[in-house]
Amino acid sequence: MTATRAVVVGGGITGLTFASTLIDELASRGVEADVRLIESAPEAGGHARTLADGGWLVESGPNGFLDSEPEALSLVDQLGLTSRLIESSAAARRRFIVRKRQLLQVPSSPGSFLTSKSLSWRGKLRLLGEPWAPGPPKDVDETVFAFAERRIGREAADTFVDTVVSGISGGDSRALSLRSQFPVLHEWEEAHGSLVKAAFARRKKSGGRTRLLTFDRGLGVLTSALAERLGPRVIAGVAVGGIEREGREWRVSLSNGTSLSAERVVFATPSHITGRVLGSTDGALAAALASIPYAGLAVIAMGFRAEDVPRSLDGYGYLVPRSEQFATLGVLWESSIFPGRAPSGRALLRVVLGGVSRPDVPALDEEAIAALARSELKAVMGLSAEPERQWIFRWPKAIAQYTVGHSERVEAISTALAAHPGLGVCGTAYDGVSFTSAVASARRSARQLADRLSGRS
Ligand SMILES: Cc1cc2nc3c(=O)[nH]c(=O)nc-3n(C[C@H](O)[C@H](O)[C@H](O)COP(=O)(O)OP(=O)(O)OC[C@H]3O[C@@H](n4cnc5c(N)ncnc54)[C@H](O)[C@@H]3O)c2cc1C
Repeated sequence: MTATRAVVVGGGITGLTFASTLIDELASRGVEADVRLIESAPEAGGHARTLADGGWLVESGPNGFLDSEPEALSLVDQLGLTSRLIESSAAARRRFIVRKRQLLQVPSSPGSFLTSKSLSWRGKLRLLGEPWAPGPPKDVDETVFAFAERRIGREAADTFVDTVVSGISGGDSRALSLRSQFPVLHEWEEAHGSLVKAAFARRKKSGGRTRLLTFDRGLGVLTSALAERLGPRVIAGVAVGGIEREGREWRVSLSNGTSLSAERVVFATPSHITGRVLGSTDGALAAALASIPYAGLAVIAMGFRAEDVPRSLDGYGYLVPRSEQFATLGVLWESSIFPGRAPSGRALLRVVLGGVSRPDVPALDEEAIAALARSELKAVMGLSAEPERQWIFRWPKAIAQYTVGHSERVEAISTALAAHPGLGVCGTAYDGVSFTSAVASARRSARQLADRLSGRS
């Protein structure tokens, strides 16, 4: 019997997890499959790669993941990596925001909230009224900002929610859909009528806080382990340029002039790339894929001598509200978050810049990015010393933006895909932008495909 050939396009965490899970799931069903993963970069990993450089450990994209998604922990366990997990430091629970160029600690308890300078008394009183806030409008894809303003008032929505949204996704809370971007908050409101009540109920049920995790040698441990496990099934340094139907199979054209035939092709690439590759296969599908907007980011990691940093790095770092009009979205005090990120006597900071408010930043040259980051670090932290080392990563279309209407766009993609048997997509363009959502999406899709290939459903 010839094994079913499946080609996975894209070797970020999504594609790697998909390919690895598919192999396991098929093996457990006694089905033979020949899986290949095509990755355009010289090495797999996508955003999630860790650079080890002379005692520094530098992340190019995500620096950790939350343990709230069981799929991620189960993948780590299957790969035998659980003992290499490390948790963020207790200090990293302290987070700051910038207000008028000063760092203010984000209140983490009701007591500290009342004494915090981050909100006026009026803003605090409005926030305290959250349990009595009006319910959601009917049949409206509400924006994240409208939801937050309705529940906790305009001041807290602007100060915290808009800032967090732009810090973690590079996006605009006034454009993003609550149901698509933060479905949990929507569900909490539906179930409990109040976020405060829902948070109490959740804490009682789960009995603890969510942990931020990575590995002793960075997040790249996971992507490297997956790539190693897949071994020669990973074909790196070659891009998929297009696909064409040939009878029951797909002919996948590669940038090195060769091609592969496969019964199944699964795209684990960002949707704008998937759309481009599928341009000549199905124009409507390609347009639907391209309709999901992305925000670009630039990341600059800087290594300083500890004595050159004029304040204690006693926290996770800080986020910058858009009202400050900086190109910086946030600064992570990496060496305070996880151990082993910097040599002794040194401090590692990562500045994340760009997002939808500054789409020009990822296209700037490296000197201009460094100059922006340094002048804004000086303005907020008074840090004017030259870094000893610096690393720059540019991600022109980094994070999918689930703007209002996102669920209809995803629906249109599913409908168009249904006309192409054997073709599939998964990843962070569709149902969750985080690292753990990527893992969950890949594992779900791989199980569904394994079921189909083994004729179960
Ligand atoms: C700067 C930054 C910081 C982040 N921080 C966090 C964080 O702290 N926590 C968190 O949960 N999430 C974070 N994220 C989001 C997280 O990185 C992503 O959710 C996740 O890594 C996406 O993985 P992916 O595999 O879906 O996509 P990608 O990592 O983009 O992988 C796609 C892969 O496809 C390849 N490819 C592209 N075109 C082709 C082609 N034509 N043929 C073959 N291969 C191709 C690319 O080279 C790439 O390797 C961050 C993202 C960025 C950019």
